[in-house]
Amino acid sequence: MDIFKEIGPLKEFLKDKKSKNKTIGLIPTMGALHEGHLALVNSSKMENDVTVSTIFINPTQFNNSVDLDKYPRTFDADIEKLKASGCDAVFCPKAEEVYPDKPVLSLDFGSLATDMEGKFRPGHFSGVGLIVSKLFNIVNPDRAYFGQKDLQQFFIIQRLVIDLSFDIELRCEPIVRESSGLAMSSRNMRLSQSGKSDASMIYKSLRRAEDAIRREVKFAEIKKELSRFLDQNGVHLEYFELVDAERMAIINDYSSSSKLALCIAAFVEEVRLIDNLIISLD
Ligand code: AMP
Repeated sequence: MDIFKEIGPLKEFLKDKKSKNKTIGLIPTMGALHEGHLALVNSSKMENDVTVSTIFINPTQFNNSVDLDKYPRTFDADIEKLKASGCDAVFCPKAEEVYPDKPVLSLDFGSLATDMEGKFRPGHFSGVGLIVSKLFNIVNPDRAYFGQKDLQQFFIIQRLVIDLSFDIELRCEPIVRESSGLAMSSRNMRLSQSGKSDASMIYKSLRRAEDAIRREVKFAEIKKELSRFLDQNGVHLEYFELVDAERMAIINDYSSSSKLALCIAAFVEEVRLIDNLIISLD
């Protein structure tokens, strides 16, 4: 596996592959890799000749400097995991390589970014849009792989591709979970064993909410009950929303849409976790 810290040599590598008509798959990550990331690598390997992962903790998408400082960093283990997964190249630049100057551009995704992650992490999606645009421009992949775990982010990136005419196919891959149901996340490394067990209640509560939706219980009641259940289990809700999964818009009543998503953000041991569940009502 080739490891690139600078843009120039990475571009040379890619130019050579493209001149041989090889297709390129891109997996952007912030490192602290787990099975969820490796599933994206695997999907890319099935569809492309060359798979490129990136490891870059993007400062512009963090609105909280403590969160940025505490973000897990496991570079050597990440490289071993990528090698073992058959990834062809990894791009792991320093911040100065990606942002030689403090960027002045900000991206406004309108109503897609006003709720949930956009509401509670101001500026987050502008930073995501910026780094993903940079990586798309640097790598110019045929396909790029993202996880459903960050569902709102996927909609933002879809919009980015449309609005900036990137000629890139996007893939949204299913959420990989621990056997307890807990969605794999780099942030789980910051949880104690009992914190992990509490955090597994997030998925359990999403499944309980799904059952209640299928029984046509009012969403306001479901929300109240879910918040109470999680609180009792050491999980403190930041938001829990019912979303029309075709438009990524918050709704209050599930009768108007047949593809729904339940989206949640919560704190366990001061670690912020997100998860979601897509529900088809047909
Ligand atoms: P991150 O390193 O957290 O920025 O994540 C990089 C990519 O991996 C994003 O597209 C995430 O949505 C995806 N991802 C993170 N966790 C999971 C998971 N548990 N299952 C599938 N994809 C994931």
